[in-house]
Amino acid sequence: MGLLALGTPLEWPEAKKKAAQVREWGIEQLLATWNRAKGKERDALLWGDEVEYLVVCFDDEHRKVRLSLRQSDILEALASNEKLVKEGGGVHDVKRGVPTNGYCAPVFHAEFGRFMLEATPGKPWGIGFKDLLDVELNMKLRREIAKEHMSDTEFPMTVTTFPRLGLGDYITPYYPPSGEKLRSQYVPDEIANPHVRFPTLAANIRSRRGRKVEVNVPVFRDEKTSWPWMDPTVNYDLYKWPEDDDVRKGAVKENYIYMDAMAFGMGSCCLQMTFQAKNIDEGRKMYDQLLPIGPIMMALTAATPIYKGFLADTDVRWNQIGRAVDDRTREELGEEPLKNDRWRIPKSRYASNSTYISKDPRLRKEYLDPDLVVDEELKKKLIDGGMDDILATHFAHLFIRDPIVIFAEDLETLDLSKVDHFENLQSTNWQHMRFKPPPPGDGTGWRVEFRSMEIQMTDFENAAFSVFIVLITRAILSFDLNFYLPMPCVTENMERAHARDAVNGQKFYFRKNPFHNRAPGRAPGTNGASRTASPTPSRPATPLGPVEDEYELMSIDEVINGQYGGDGTASSCRFPGLIPLVESYLDSVNIDIETRCNLERYLGLIQKRADGRLWNNAKWMREFVRTHPEYQMDSVVGEGIQYDLLKAAEQVAEGGGGNGLGKEMFHV
Ligand code: ADP
Ligand code: MG
Ligand code: MG
Ligand code: MG
Repeated sequence: MGLLALGTPLEWPEAKKKAAQVREWGIEQLLATWNRAKGKERDALLWGDEVEYLVVCFDDEHRKVRLSLRQSDILEALASNEKLVKEGGGVHDVKRGVPTNGYCAPVFHAEFGRFMLEATPGKPWGIGFKDLLDVELNMKLRREIAKEHMSDTEFPMTVTTFPRLGLGDYITPYYPPSGEKLRSQYVPDEIANPHVRFPTLAANIRSRRGRKVEVNVPVFRDEKTSWPWMDPTVNYDLYKWPEDDDVRKGAVKENYIYMDAMAFGMGSCCLQMTFQAKNIDEGRKMYDQLLPIGPIMMALTAATPIYKGFLADTDVRWNQIGRAVDDRTREELGEEPLKNDRWRIPKSRYASNSTYISKDPRLRKEYLDPDLVVDEELKKKLIDGGMDDILATHFAHLFIRDPIVIFAEDLETLDLSKVDHFENLQSTNWQHMRFKPPPPGDGTGWRVEFRSMEIQMTDFENAAFSVFIVLITRAILSFDLNFYLPMPCVTENMERAHARDAVNGQKFYFRKNPFHNRAPGRAPGTNGASRTASPTPSRPATPLGPVEDEYELMSIDEVINGQYGGDGTASSCRFPGLIPLVESYLDSVNIDIETRCNLERYLGLIQKRADGRLWNNAKWMREFVRTHPEYQMDSVVGEGIQYDLLKAAEQVAEGGGGNGLGKEMFHV
C-alpha cells in the first residue's frame, strides 16, 4: 500500500559500485539543506515520542503465544479507518491537515519486523506543561486504537523482544526458516516487513559482510546451567546456502546464545524522543548535552533479559541490534589486513555516538574521540561548502559507511530539492543520538533524537521516561548545564549499561559539576528544598584543569538522585543529581500545584528505579522466570513460561495486577 516509495533495489555487488555516487549526492543534498536552513531561527520547542509494539497472538487453550505477522493487514485497517484519518491520525504517509480543534489522532508506522508496529502522537507536543500530562493518555489511546484494529487474540505489547523468537512455531502464520534473503537457520524471510527495502537491507548487509551477522549474547549461568554451555539449538548440519558454513567455522561461541539474522536485533522495540530546537546552535547543544545521558537512561530502562529461549547475562537490547546490522568486513573489523577496504572501523553502524557537534566553547578537544574515522574528501567538500569543521567532521564520520539499499531509479538525476541520498546514509547510521536537519518543504526545524531507551511494559512508565527526558532537556537549556565527558567514557558507559542489573550494580563515568564553566549570570533558581539542586552561584569561567578531574565513576542512583552526604543536605551535595536539577527547573517556572503533583508521579518512578526501591522491567521479567514453577534453574525459558510471562505483562500493561503483578515495579 505504498508505505514507502517503490523502486528497483540493487543487489550488493551492484550497489557497492554506486556507493560513492550516493555518498557524493548525499553530501550535495546535505549542503543544500545547510544553505537553506543554517540560519533558521525561532522554531518552536516541539517534541514527540515514538512507541514500538510487538504484535502477539495468544492461544489460551494451548498456553502458547506467537508473534503475529499481520502488520500490513493491521496498518491497512488503520489507514482505512475514516474517522481516525479525519481526526488527523491513521498511517505514516496518509496526507492530512491537522484538525482545527487541536485534537489529533495517533499515527501508526510500519517497522522492520512484520510483527511490529510503531505509533506516534498525531502532531508533535509543544512547550506547555499540560502536554506533559497528555502523553500518558495519548499512549493509552494508541494502544487501544491499535488493539481495535487487531483480532481478538492479538495484542500490541510494549515489550522489547519476543522471548522465544526463532524457536518452534513462534510465528503465525507459520513459515519455515532459511529464506534466500536472510539465510537464517531460525527465522524465515517472511519475518521482515515485505517492503523490498527491508529484505534488501538484510540481504545486502549479509552480503557486504561476507557472512551472516553474528548476534552472540552471553547466556546467564544459573544454578543448574551446564557449563561450559553450548547453544543446544544450533543446527550444524545445514548445507543449503554457503552461509550455512558459518556455524561450522566458529560463528557459535561457548557460553553465548547464537543468533544469525537481522530480525534478532531490529525486531526489538524501543522508546525514542525527538526535540526541535529554536535554531541549529541550540540543537547542537542539546545533542551534545543529552549524549552522555544516553547510557544512563538505557541502564535505567533495561527490559531485555531473554533471547531465543534463554536467560541472557545482559539486560538491554543495544549491542544485539548493533551486531544484527553489522555490515563490516573482516578487513574493517581488523581481522585481516586492509587490502580492499578503506579503513578499520571500531563500531557497528548501530552503536553509541562517536562525535560531539556543538560550537560550545566548553567542548574541550580532549573530549573528542582521538581515533575517529572520517571521510576526509567528503569533509573537505562540506567545509568548502561553508560548513564548520566540527559539524563537517560529524557528517563525514557518518559517511564512512556504504549506502546499503540503493534504488536504480534514484541514480538518474541528482535532485537537490530532495534529501533521499543524504537520508540513505543518515538513517542507516543508528547512533544513540541523531541530529536531524530540517526536511525540505514543511517548515520543520533542526531536531535532535534521543534513541537509547528501552520500551517499557506500561504506558505509565513510557510516559514517565518521556516526560523526564523532556524536563532534562529544559533544565539543560534553562541552566546551561554541562555534562560533557570524553567520548571514550561514553562508549565505555554504553558497554557497562549492558551488564545484568547495571542499574544497581554498575558505576558509570559522569561529570562531577554540571555548572562548570557556565556562561556567567545564568544561575538556576535555588530555594534550598532538599530535593532540588542548589549550586554555587555562577562564576566567571575558571581555568581548566586536567580533564580527568572533571568526571568520576558514579552509581545510577548518584547520577539520578545526587551525591549527598550522610545528612542529605544541600551543603553535603557533590553531584546534584538529574532529578534535583529537574526539580530545580520546575521551581523556577510558573506551574500549578496539580500539574506539579502529576509530574512528581513520573519523577518518583525514576527516582525509585534509580535507587533500587523499584525494579526495572528486566529484573521483573528475570524474577518472573526464575520463580516460575516450570523453570529448571538451567537458563531455559520454555514455552509455558513465555506464555505466562507475556500474559502477565499484558495484564500489567492493562493496569491489572490483581494478584500483585507488577507491584515491585510501580508502587510510586
Ligand atoms: P523517525 O522514525 O524518523 O525518528 P517519526 O516520524 O517516527 O521519525 O517520529 C518522530 C517524532 O518526532 C514523532 O513523535 C513526531 O511527533 C515528532 N515530531 C514531528 N515533527 C516534529 C518537530 N517539528 N519537532 C519535534 N518533534 C517532531
Ligand atoms: Mg519512527
Ligand atoms: Mg521505529
Ligand atoms: Mg525515531
